[in-house]
Formats: sequence, structure tokens, C-alpha cells
Amino acid sequence: MASEADSGGVQPFGPGAMLQLIREGDGATRADLAALTGLARSTIAQRIEQLVAQNLLRPAGESESTGGRPPMLFAFNEDAGVVLAADLGATHSRLAVTNLGGRVLAEAAGEIAIAAGPEEVLDWADERFHALLRESGRDDADVHGIGIGVPGPVEHATGRPRNPPIMPGWDGYSIPERFADRYRVPVLVDNDVNIMARGEQWTNWRQVSHLLFVKVATGIGCGVIVDGRIHRGADGAAGDIGHIRVVTGDDTEEVTCSCGNVDCLEALASGGAMARRLTVEGLEAADSRAVVELARAGEAEAVRLVRDSGRLIGEVLAASVNLYNPSVIVIGGDVAQAHEQLLAGIREVVYQRSLPLATRHLRIVRSQLEDRAGVIGAAVMVIEQVLSPAAIDAAIAAVPPGEQAFAAG
Ligand SMILES: [Zn+2]
Repeated sequence: MASEADSGGVQPFGPGAMLQLIREGDGATRADLAALTGLARSTIAQRIEQLVAQNLLRPAGESESTGGRPPMLFAFNEDAGVVLAADLGATHSRLAVTNLGGRVLAEAAGEIAIAAGPEEVLDWADERFHALLRESGRDDADVHGIGIGVPGPVEHATGRPRNPPIMPGWDGYSIPERFADRYRVPVLVDNDVNIMARGEQWTNWRQVSHLLFVKVATGIGCGVIVDGRIHRGADGAAGDIGHIRVVTGDDTEEVTCSCGNVDCLEALASGGAMARRLTVEGLEAADSRAVVELARAGEAEAVRLVRDSGRLIGEVLAASVNLYNPSVIVIGGDVAQAHEQLLAGIREVVYQRSLPLATRHLRIVRSQLEDRAGVIGAAVMVIEQVLSPAAIDAAIAAVPPGEQAFAAG
């Protein structure tokens, strides 16, 4: 179950903590580790031996010699296992097998409606996981965890969606239990924008502790990273900026949102909202992706709408910047890939409206992982749990003599 690996005590500088130190750098020698931890060389040697025996470390060449035999470098063996990751969207999903370093080994995308319900969607995902494992030359025994992102609110501790508006049939459904029989590994679930935030931060902004990730697609959502961790709020609803009301200033008619309120950011500035506007104006735009295509083709009305959407999103982000003081805002989702006008509109308003102290070091950038942010983030969510010092110490303690918890890879 989701929180199993959290239980049990962490030995101070046990093998798990030692692995963590090695993972944080590009490799370490016994002397490096002795200097970092203050432990005796004999204890370090013993920890290294334990980690090597579990295939978690590999020799990574030699460090520069200061005279005598050059010291051996050890690095984390990222291929000691794999993670299954899925980013389930409203109509479009992406799945991947990654190694324990978050590197994608095999991936697939496909069209399936989340509204088809958990049985059908998760059967579909499981079949593809199986095919991707084969494609990457791995099998079920190599899987150390499963990470799933869904387009709705989730109770992270239990992996159950909670009143998800666009996911009929999923309310309270235990996603981890669906995978429990086949894989006896942690199954972690989060909402799509939180995993995207995690993927982007881990890959491109590892040194940044305060980051907002804004997804602009059919809807609008925001993943909030504070002090290096996902901020979920009291009920897991933090970051739901799509339902903040925006004051447009003009006297256009009020727009009713899917949530029942009027003039929510999502009802005015999302890809879905733009598609509806364009359709009213006689342009064919069925969904968010059609808006992207029109804007890319240079259709003036679509480009103007994208810019205006950027400004409206900027209004809400300007307030969020004053509240959270992030140093990076990453804009993702398919509309962000459409046109630089979205980012330009956001920047224009945020830099104008937020307090100068809060924007002095603020960067507003486009997602570099694009449509891979979700699967990478889902994998990272799992990796950070299964490689945590407590989980590693527990895994090593549970292995019968002569066996290994991790694959040679
Ligand atoms: Zn709303």
C-alpha cells in the first residue's frame, strides 16, 4: 500500500541514508563519504558492501589520485529496477516504463476517455504497462513501484479520487488495489498537475524550492511546490486556480463555469473556453488542440484569444506570486506549446501587477518536458518513495540471505 515504505525507523547513516548521499552527487569515494558523515572508514566500507550486494551501487571508475592507488568511485545503479508511470488525461493518456533514475525506457500514448470508468481505463493501462515492460526487456519482478496521475482531485494517502468532476465512476475507487495482485509494490496516485510540477522541477529545476506549474489545456490547474515539496492543502485542493473568479473589466456577459460559478478563470481562459469562443465566431474548433492548431497556423482571432487568455491567467498568477513568492513559474499543457503569445500575455500582467520584491528573481518559462512532464513526474513520485532511506533500509533488512532486493540491471 501507498504508505508502507514510510514506516520503520531510519538508521542514522544506515545504507539508505548512504545511498541518498551518493544519489545527490555524481559519485562518491569511501573517503568522500567518511568526510560527509563522520563515520569510521570501516562502517562506510560495510554500508557500501551492503549496497553493492543489492545491486544499488556500481563502480564508476576512479577518482583522481592524491598519490598511491586511485580511490574507487561508486555511483547509484539506476538500472537496478523500473517504475511504471501513467499520466491519465481526460481523453488522452501517456504511459512509460522508467529506470530508477527517471529515464524513460519505453513509452506509449493513446486515446481513452477517463469517463469510461476505472475498470476499463486501468485494464487498458495495465495491458500497455505489460507491453512496455516487454519492450524494455524487463519483467514484473523488476517493477519497484507504480505512479499514476489522474485529471481530478485525489486523496494522496490512499490513492482514491475524491469527487472528481470529469471522472464518473472513480469517486472513492482505490487505484492501488487494482494493481495489488499483480505487483506487490507501492502504487502512488496524484492529480495530473501535481505530477507535472514534480517532473518539471526534478528534471530542470532541482535547485529551485519554490515553483508553480500551471497547466493550460482543456482546463486550467496549478501544482504548487513549496520548500521542495508538493503543497496539497488541508483537503488536497490547493492550486485549483481554474476556479478563481477573474474580473475582466469589460461588460461582456457572464460565463457560467462547469463548477456552477460564473467567470472562473477556466471558463474564460482555458483551451476549452477558447474553443467555444472560436466556434461562436464561426471558426471550427472542437477542443483545446484545435485552438492550438489555429493559433499555430496564424489565424488572427485564435492568436488574439491566446494572448488574452495569457493576460487573464496572469491576473490570477500575479496574486499567487504575492502569496507564494515562487522563483520559477512553469507554463505547460497543450495551449502553452501553441504559441508564445500565451507566455507573453502572462508575463505582461505578472510583472506589471506583482510586487517588485516578489518578481525580482522570478522566471516565467515554458515547460521543457512538454507532454512528458506527467509520466516523468509520476515516476519521480515513486522513485523518491522507494529509494528513501527508510524504504531502502527496510528493503535490505527484509531480504533473505543470498537473495537480492534489486536486479543487476
Ligand atoms: Zn469554476
